[in-house]
Amino acid sequence: MGLRSKQQFLHDLIDDREVYYRGERVTSVTDHADLGIAVQHAAIDFELAEDPATRELAVYKEGDEEYSAYYRVPRSASDLRLRSKLIEAGTAKGATLVILIKEIGTDAIFAMMRVLSRGKSAEGLERLHAFYTECREKDLALAVAQTDVKGDRSKRPSEQSDPDMYVRVVSTRADGIVVRGAKVHTSCTPYVDRILVLPSRSMLAGDVAYSVAFAVSPATPGVKMYASDFLHGGHPFTEPISSKHKMIETLTVFDDVFVPWDQVFFHDRPDLAGAVALTFVEYHRFTAVSYKLPLLDALIGSAIAIAKANGIDRASHVRDKLTWLGGYVETVRGLIELAAQRGEIESGIAYPHVFTTNLAKWTFARDFHRAIEVVQDIAGGLLVTGPSGADWDSAEIRPVLEKYFAGAWPANKRLALMNLISELTSRLYGGYQAVLAIHAEGSVEAEKMAMFRSYNAKPALEYALQLAGVADIDPAA
Ligand SMILES: Cc1cc2nc3c(=O)[nH]c(=O)nc-3n(C[C@H](O)[C@H](O)[C@H](O)COP(=O)(O)OP(=O)(O)OC[C@H]3O[C@@H](n4cnc5c(N)ncnc54)[C@H](O)[C@@H]3O)c2cc1C
Repeated sequence: MGLRSKQQFLHDLIDDREVYYRGERVTSVTDHADLGIAVQHAAIDFELAEDPATRELAVYKEGDEEYSAYYRVPRSASDLRLRSKLIEAGTAKGATLVILIKEIGTDAIFAMMRVLSRGKSAEGLERLHAFYTECREKDLALAVAQTDVKGDRSKRPSEQSDPDMYVRVVSTRADGIVVRGAKVHTSCTPYVDRILVLPSRSMLAGDVAYSVAFAVSPATPGVKMYASDFLHGGHPFTEPISSKHKMIETLTVFDDVFVPWDQVFFHDRPDLAGAVALTFVEYHRFTAVSYKLPLLDALIGSAIAIAKANGIDRASHVRDKLTWLGGYVETVRGLIELAAQRGEIESGIAYPHVFTTNLAKWTFARDFHRAIEVVQDIAGGLLVTGPSGADWDSAEIRPVLEKYFAGAWPANKRLALMNLISELTSRLYGGYQAVLAIHAEGSVEAEKMAMFRSYNAKPALEYALQLAGVADIDPAA
């Protein structure tokens, strides 16, 4: 098969999946007023492969087989760059909101391929390859449920007063395992074909039941998805992005879910859990920064435009702020390109440079709120005091708005920009992006820890010791 059409993707979502939204069971995710918007947003991934403008980037040809380029296993720095460009192009088409139904799943698959190729589980590797081939050939959409609900953060999984705070194996049968617990913040689960479940941290011998990785269909009995309503509704005038684009996160509960052996990649393996958790984020933070680029472009582009619309683009303080913003955006872009360029290879699979990827993600997250401040500063208070879509639609009221909201540019253009900036920085969508910046793909502290662990200090240390004339000392002693 290789490539699915958008229609096929939508059709395949009709099954018995158990999704709850605003207190009610959802009968059809595709037809639902709010979830349906998220489904259409996710379908952009299939449109990318159909659109002549993006087809070359989105479709990979290997021999006679054509398949989604997300499923292309990266073999070189150049492949990593192309993957980054594809993720950026998808997010640009999604009006700054990542699509994620193949990006995150392939991040997880590539990570597990590398870890299981280290000779520690031939059976797991074989099952993973079969799973990967099925996903690629059927062009499946994937969610990744890694983040556990975690309970008391100071305690390990096996130390929690409720043992279900991390997903665990509750029984092993001849034909598979039974799992219980819950993952949280899981993006896109209501509208994917498979959910990949990974451990969220390193495990010790006592945490053996929690050291499990597997895949399930969202329609599997016992899988229950409780969807967040954070992004809902909106008028196209005041919410030009979120009225058309959404991503849904769920509390994903595994209520004694049976998983057959062929979908279990490992279990009872504390030695693999931490390695998979860490290797996954090596890819996923690279994905993250790639999908942040359209958002950053939208921020600086709209800041420049609103400065002109307000008539302040020649003011020195505005130029100073825009220069800072441009430097921030291009630093993040440059770092992610460098992470691909410095990519390394393990078992024939390329991965982005770990330190540089984390530096890129940290740089993005550290200064994102400052970037929002700069754009809000230049735009002005209309971001939260402007007229509603209903006012703009009113033949009686609109002339008043057109007269009094004109700046250096006419009111319709200025308000359109103002509303875009309001969405990006001040309304629900802006809040969603602000939290996404800090927490998604791991917290800021997790990025700094990864930088600390992966920094190669040896050359600089040796140089300093040599300059000090104490090169004979053993720095490890
Ligand atoms: C919009 C969105 C989409 C997401 N999508 C997905 C997804 O698709 N799949 C998925 O698996 N996850 C997803 N995530 C989860 C994301 O990776 C987590 O939010 C992130 O790992 C932080 O975890 P948390 O939210 O539970 O916060 P916490 O872990 O509770 O972190 C809160 C604070 O506590 C600190 N902290 C936590 N534990 C400790 C400790 N032991 N000691 C000291 N400090 C600690 C953290 O550094 C942070 O400052 C998503 C998150 C968001 C916001």
